[in-house]
Amino acid sequence: MDIAIFSSHRYERSTLEHAFTNSSHTLVFFDVHLNSQQAPLANGFDAVCVFVNDVVDAKTIEILSAGGTKLIALRCAGFNNVDTEAAKSYGIRVVRVPAYSPFAVAEHACALMLTLNRHIHKAYNKVRDSNFSIEGLCGFDLHGKTVGVIGTGAIGQVFCQIMQGFGCKVLAFDPVPNDSCLALGVKYVDLDQLLMDSDIISLHCPLNPKTHHIINHETLKKCKPHAVIINTSRGGLINTHAVIDTLKQGRLGGLAIDVYEEESDVFFEDLSDQIIADDDLMRLTTFPNVLVTGHQAFLTREALTNIAETTRENIEAFAAGSDLINEI
Ligand code: NAD
Repeated sequence: MDIAIFSSHRYERSTLEHAFTNSSHTLVFFDVHLNSQQAPLANGFDAVCVFVNDVVDAKTIEILSAGGTKLIALRCAGFNNVDTEAAKSYGIRVVRVPAYSPFAVAEHACALMLTLNRHIHKAYNKVRDSNFSIEGLCGFDLHGKTVGVIGTGAIGQVFCQIMQGFGCKVLAFDPVPNDSCLALGVKYVDLDQLLMDSDIISLHCPLNPKTHHIINHETLKKCKPHAVIINTSRGGLINTHAVIDTLKQGRLGGLAIDVYEEESDVFFEDLSDQIIADDDLMRLTTFPNVLVTGHQAFLTREALTNIAETTRENIEAFAAGSDLINEI
């Protein structure tokens, strides 16, 4: 099969090529995002392979179908960017990589929290400038704090375990409680209770109509004024304007995000010599208690290898007419 790999980046190319070394399939890499404008590039390709910021909406799918594409293979777990109903109506199958390393994402959430709390990013720059003053670097002990985890699937569960290792009390909100978390002693509560009682809140649920802007003006009002919110899940879980208002009023301890609701035009690109037009993102980066990374939580060697291998397995299963265990 001929496979068009969209939104491809140098960091993943060799891992994907390695995974397909002994396969009969041909990979063609495109740097651009897949969307309705770029979809004609996939003309004649049996499969497209896409990532988090590709826009696989009904229009894109119509063009893909007309060009002969029969498979959409996501190189990620979340599939909020794919109109699965439209794909179904055109008979295009959709597969994903449901889990490649929950550790990678949970550990990055933890890294964000530690960096923000202990000001490691500021200390790094100060020391490089021979400024060994520790003024302004005071954090808080994690031990004994209450951590609220929204979504306790694969990643949320690992995050709960890590937080328990720090001696935190872990609360969780998830419509489907996870038995392993219950066995760990995680206490499931309703969302309001979690927001009111948590010192740290970490988002690990998927983005869907129910979770869109789950962090908004109303829910932020329920949080403790010193609460720290961490989002490594999807940008659309947080209403950016609401969080900026709350930060400006000094009613939030901190915000650490690896995802941002308007990230698709900026994240994954080197825009260091350009003027960024997104005022909300730029405003966020000016707060002393906000930390932003550019959707790198998944980026470990283990995760990249698992993504590439599961993608090959998904494509081979489709080519062989076998069951698609990772079909959406
Ligand atoms: P998962 O499917 O294993 O777990 C998701 C959990 O969220 C499930 O337990 C589900 O019941 C729960 N959930 C669903 N609706 C909810 C709601 N309304 N409120 C609370 N919980 C709800 O998924 P996962 O592998 O743990 O991944 C979680 C998310 O992390 C993905 O959807 C993806 O968006 C994100 N992610 C981000 C990165 C990154 O690099 N930043 C990488 C991988 C995944």
